[in-house]
Amino acid sequence: MIKAITGTKDILPDQIARWHYLEMIVSYIMECFNYKEIRTPVFEETSLFARGIGEATDIVSKEMYTFIDRSETSVTLKPEMTASVVRALNEHSLDKKQGLNKLYYISPMFRQERPQAGRYRQFHQFGAEAIGSDNPALDAEMIVIAYDILKSLGLNDLTVKINSLGVPVSRENYKNILREYLTPHLKNLSEDSQKRFETNILRIFDSKAENDQKIMEDAPLLIEHLDDNSLENFEKVKQILLHAQIPFEIDPKLVRGLDYYTHTTFEILSGSVGSQSALCGGGRYDGLSEQLGGTAIPGVGFAAGIERILLACENEKSLDLPTESIDLYLVRLDKELQNAAYNLSLILRRNDLVVELDYLQRSVKAQMREANKFNAKYVLFIGGEEYERNEVVLKNMSDGEQQNINLEDLSTIISKIIGE
Ligand code: ATP
Ligand code: MG
Repeated sequence: MIKAITGTKDILPDQIARWHYLEMIVSYIMECFNYKEIRTPVFEETSLFARGIGEATDIVSKEMYTFIDRSETSVTLKPEMTASVVRALNEHSLDKKQGLNKLYYISPMFRQERPQAGRYRQFHQFGAEAIGSDNPALDAEMIVIAYDILKSLGLNDLTVKINSLGVPVSRENYKNILREYLTPHLKNLSEDSQKRFETNILRIFDSKAENDQKIMEDAPLLIEHLDDNSLENFEKVKQILLHAQIPFEIDPKLVRGLDYYTHTTFEILSGSVGSQSALCGGGRYDGLSEQLGGTAIPGVGFAAGIERILLACENEKSLDLPTESIDLYLVRLDKELQNAAYNLSLILRRNDLVVELDYLQRSVKAQMREANKFNAKYVLFIGGEEYERNEVVLKNMSDGEQQNINLEDLSTIISKIIGE
């Protein structure tokens, strides 16, 4: 038997209610903040992500699903959404139609990483992008939206970490200071971090290697070298979060290494999902649009991992979804009534009832078992003497009460059940 590819996962029907619920909460909260949904293609030209995420990142340097298609074009399955959203915005001149574009998405993403709990090769993210303004109120809004969604899913064990990366000029100065600090430690850094020293020095703060972390403990911090305007922006973000009653920590080591990242960066972590604990991450990217060859438009966004969030929900038992049920199961007493039963079910289904009946020629007993399995609120019996009198029998499964109903009065049944 062929199996699903390593790192991909089937979402089976017994899990789907949780997905639908999460998607409903996401759309609902996004729409309350007046974000509009955007859907972009699953694959794009490779250069979009190479430029839009950055050659020096883990994603671009080792995680992308890239292949040459039959017309010799290098295409990549999307590993994240921001680059695609900014591309779409420029391509359709959305910025000319609307000063500020507030967009959200729910979409599969693809990264060829080592699969483990909370880390897959096809996974799903929801997220938002607000493009067209450098107002720090929007930086804060991203954190508020993400936090509100997680809280609405009943999650409690959350930590919000924020930092400011300032603007490229002050960051360049700071990088020199960091380079100076690290130079004497260079040979003690891990191989990866030695590479980062050349390509993306800020990312050394991200290193999981114990010795790297020890060296970075005493490193000078970017936040101590920000310009006044950046500090002021950061202050505004903090004020809004305080006002919104969102508990947060400042983590000066939370960095993103690319030049087009500016000002706010943040992460929301969960204490209940083990080592892959980041549920969501985001920040401001004022230089990205230009980097992609578009007009210079400031933007801010975040992305959240749905699998990890649902895992957190499971571990915190935070979702109390109603047990699934159907309105009515139609039990056919005589085999000959197959067609009649089907026709009846059609009328009921077209009147908005969730109806099931037997397709496998099963016995009455087996049909009743099915009705119970589906948690049917009502069973409708068709057949026997009653049917000869043009009647069917409706049984309320919660109290066992039965009543005969003339087929002419079927609409009464319908309104009775729907009316509940
Ligand atoms: P990590 O440090 O865990 O690799 P990241 O920095 O690569 O995360 P982002 O690119 O910021 O993650 O993506 C946002 C969110 O998407 C993450 O916080 C996480 O919840 C989720 N995510 C990222 N990669 C994966 C993956 N391979 N499988 C499942 N979820 C993922
Ligand atoms: Mg990653």
